[in-house]
Amino acid sequence: MSGHSLPSPNTAWHTLDTVGSLATLNSDRTTGLSEQEAATRLEQYGTNELEESGGRSSWEILIDQFKNVMLLMLIGVALVSGILDIIALTQGNLKPGEVPFKDTIAILAIVVLNGALGYIQESRAEQALAALKQLSSPRVRVLRGGRVSEVDSKYLVPGDVMLVEAGTQVSADGRILEAANLQIREAALTGEAEAVSKNANITVKEDAMPADRINMTYQGTEVVNGRGTVLVTGTGMRTELGKIAAQIQGVESEPTPLQRRMDQLSQALVTGALILVAIVVVGGLLISRNFGLLQNLLQTSLSMAVAVVPEGLPAVITVTLAIGTQRMVRRNALIRKLPAVETLGSVTTICSDKTGTLTQNKMVVQSLHTISASPKITGQGYAPDGEFLLDGTKIIPAEQPEFRALLLACTVCNDSILQQEAGEWIILGDPTEGALLTAAAKAGLERDQWNSKLPRVAEFPFSSDRKRMSVIVEDAAGLLQSETDFLATPYLMFTKGSPEIVLERCQQIQVGDQVEPITQVQRSQILERNNELAGNGLRVLGFAYKPLQGVPSETDEEGAEQDLVWLGLVDMLDAPRPEVREAVKRCRTAGIRPVMITGDHQLTASAIAQDLGIAKPGDEVLIGRELEAMSQQELESHVDRVSVYARVAPEHKLRIVQALQKTGQIAAMTGDGVNDAPALKQADIGIAMGITGTDVSKEASDMVLLDDNFATIVSATEEGRVVYTNIRRFIKYILGSNIGEVITIAASVVLIPAVAATGSVPLTPLQILWMNLVTDGLPALALAVEPAEPNVMNRPPNHPGESIFARGLGAYMIRIGIILAILSVATMVWAYDWTTKNTAGGLDPDRWKTIVFTTLCLAQMGHAIAIRSNSRLTIELNPFTNLYVWGAVVLTSILQLALVYVEPLRRFFGTHYLPFDELMVCVGVSALMFVWIEMEKLFIRFYFSKKR
Ligand code: ATP
Repeated sequence: MSGHSLPSPNTAWHTLDTVGSLATLNSDRTTGLSEQEAATRLEQYGTNELEESGGRSSWEILIDQFKNVMLLMLIGVALVSGILDIIALTQGNLKPGEVPFKDTIAILAIVVLNGALGYIQESRAEQALAALKQLSSPRVRVLRGGRVSEVDSKYLVPGDVMLVEAGTQVSADGRILEAANLQIREAALTGEAEAVSKNANITVKEDAMPADRINMTYQGTEVVNGRGTVLVTGTGMRTELGKIAAQIQGVESEPTPLQRRMDQLSQALVTGALILVAIVVVGGLLISRNFGLLQNLLQTSLSMAVAVVPEGLPAVITVTLAIGTQRMVRRNALIRKLPAVETLGSVTTICSDKTGTLTQNKMVVQSLHTISASPKITGQGYAPDGEFLLDGTKIIPAEQPEFRALLLACTVCNDSILQQEAGEWIILGDPTEGALLTAAAKAGLERDQWNSKLPRVAEFPFSSDRKRMSVIVEDAAGLLQSETDFLATPYLMFTKGSPEIVLERCQQIQVGDQVEPITQVQRSQILERNNELAGNGLRVLGFAYKPLQGVPSETDEEGAEQDLVWLGLVDMLDAPRPEVREAVKRCRTAGIRPVMITGDHQLTASAIAQDLGIAKPGDEVLIGRELEAMSQQELESHVDRVSVYARVAPEHKLRIVQALQKTGQIAAMTGDGVNDAPALKQADIGIAMGITGTDVSKEASDMVLLDDNFATIVSATEEGRVVYTNIRRFIKYILGSNIGEVITIAASVVLIPAVAATGSVPLTPLQILWMNLVTDGLPALALAVEPAEPNVMNRPPNHPGESIFARGLGAYMIRIGIILAILSVATMVWAYDWTTKNTAGGLDPDRWKTIVFTTLCLAQMGHAIAIRSNSRLTIELNPFTNLYVWGAVVLTSILQLALVYVEPLRRFFGTHYLPFDELMVCVGVSALMFVWIEMEKLFIRFYFSKKR
């Protein structure tokens, strides 16, 4: 088959019939391409990927950096400072040795640097998101070399035969070879929200629009119903979607609520800074009535304006969120939308599916239950090795009509594939169905053998709403009649689903090799048995069949699925995931309520919920039917009490999540099916399943669980809390320092005569920028990777609407700012006095300014070390858990000393040489900052222990 020449890119596939399309692509509908041919074509056509057009371009990222009001204000400060220098130059007022425009150039340089840093960090974040997107690339079922296998969608090639079913996102353009109730929503391409019914057996006029080509599927569209086999005709950029180069599954990087709040904060700070400038300038002029002071006052106010703005903060926040997503992906939670990192920390209720998330989704059939007997089945896993035992004695089920018919229904009414891979039995498809195939195979009823004898002619597919499915097969040879005493009709329908639903559609029952009318007693007997099994936490399915003279219409499922013949029940065990019990406990101590929402029977759900600690015996269980009868208000009055919702349909999930939100809960909701998408979108955190989830549900989600595990949600919540705590930690740290700087400058005007006279404040704009960006910025970055505090999951969730200053943050910031100011102002008053008196040996009398500058910087080092924990003393913390903080403190201190002792830096930054004893004063005073914070912790501990 190799040596395939590329068909013309303009081939009108919709005008060809299936045979013609297969021939053009040199493919085979029953075997697909060989692996080797697929590899060759992959080289020929390239991978099936759209060239990136989403996300922000590099330019956009760069420009965005300068949309920040704080940077704009800095540019303003640089300009005013430049103008002041021009005036000084023209008036000949420049001090000897002073370089003109130094502040202007430095501020502009730092604006550029800040922009560049922000740019690098944000493009890294974009790249990380792009990488995450790669990870969530869908898997596709294809026929290769006669076997069904799952491949990454990017390895699809033209000529591949792919299998699609409800929930799949179509990964390439293709000609439909077979369609069973196949309905596809093509909104991504045509904008039309209604799903289109597809048909394989027709050809369409050449000039038909994509929306009318009902024998084709297109990349990026969603299968909402049914099943189909599709011949891939176009991949990558050669698809319809590729042609319009649309970006369909972009990972959104919208600003997080926190980033929005930070924008508001920066606006407030800038406004505050401008008001301060106005007060200093206007107030100063009014009080002194001396316009000659204007220049001095302007200079002072420029320093204050620079001091107010936390220049390093935006970059630190971006980095922290990016680090958060990385930590989460290491714990198997893939973040699709950045805001989720933060919202996770606020989650109060986690609504989880049962099957697969709370349980292992490794089903094993335990026994069959026909009206006459209930044989047990031995064996573990999907390997078809086991026996059927009736009262301890081995039986051959294939020889008994009741069991044989039931097992046949298990095999025929089934869309999954049981196969051996590398010596291990695996399931392609739904594990529930896999378990049924295994059970039948244990009795010697292999699916392959029946597929050819009883070809499927129609079906009514399974959906969580219908909770049942039916398959209609042709029995031309009357095979079933001879083998199993079924009636001799040309067609047969097999139905399986939730036992109550299947049973209510039955009028007859299979007893031995006879079909009899079903009695009321038999009905109650079956339902009782169902409840008993479900009460033990087992998943139970009911089976029935119906002889048919013709094939029912695809749209008449209600009519067709009536007057069935009851076959029996099959129960299966889906053990809870062992780690979930612990995760549920952690949820409880963290003030998060776990809730189970399942399509399964209420007794099964309750039994498993109790086993896992989600519910207690006697807790209210709400059933889908009851929920449907409730108004939304009634539901809202129930949601606080109900921990288990059973037999619910996906649209109920939406109502539950809305009701929870109405009562003030922040709800996370899991989902895997197509119809779960609205609930996932509505939830504060929509969580899709990475393994079993449909592409549609992943698209709608904020987060994808790579291992489908409930425990992973809890870990992600923990990470979310850590991120939020760390962000608050460095905001406290950075803004506390800003407050200290502003107060110190303001105090200098009042307390230091030289400042009032010359307008030369202790801290120049350049020095302030240095502090805010370097000596505050580096330790803040290190604080962003601080590991979780032990109590992070022992306290209630953060309130999502809470202000960034809530829970004492604002008070802390102001308190620490004032302490920092007291220390630096006291040092300033002393140093001014001391240095003006001790100028012997050529020491500069202005070096008091450098003492203030150095003290402020070093005090922040003490602050950085102490703020690692809010409650534990530094000596109680393991110093090795965050070596970055120590590294940042050492590096920053060295840099600060370089500014004082390296001559060119000294000249540039306008600092003055300090003798050793004066440096020691700075170190000593700075250490007091550390001591103060540690004392605060002790005081709080003492106060609370007394209160208790
Ligand atoms: P969860 O919602 O926790 O994942 P679930 O898997 O039981 O639980 P659904 O997949 O919505 O939820 O299934 C609902 C019900 O439909 C099941 O309890 C079962 O009775 C029935 N059912 C499940 N799978 C199939 C299937 N493949 N064919 C027929 N009926 C099924």
